Amino acid sequence: MRTPAGKECKYFYGDYYRGKNAEECRLIGHQPPPNHWTADLCKACPVPGILQANSCPNMTLSASIKRKLPGLKRKVIITAYCSRSQGIVKEPHVGCGLCHDLPDAFIEEQ
Ligand code: SF4
Repeated sequence: MRTPAGKECKYFYGDYYRGKNAEECRLIGHQPPPNHWTADLCKACPVPGILQANSCPNMTLSASIKRKLPGLKRKVIITAYCSRSQGIVKEPHVGCGLCHDLPDAFIEEQ
């Protein structure tokens, strides 16, 4: 479904049927304030870009909302986990490299 920011995101759900205006992020879910989801978070959220770049079925995303300093805007922080390599995926846009070789730019020199 298309987010209020205009990007496709499988985690966004909006119900506008018969005058309803219910929107939610099914990745962040229902969190108590101040870490609750609001539609403005979609604008800078990395998830639509990750989903477009990497459709690996073994990768699971988790999201949390962070504010670096009081008064600054909140932002969505993503953590990715691969069930096949059983580890954190450092570059969710690219993957962990187990199923598909990583491009040279992502391989650390030793
Ligand atoms: S906050 Fe991110 S994951 Fe949640 S609906 Fe918006 S774009 Fe999708």
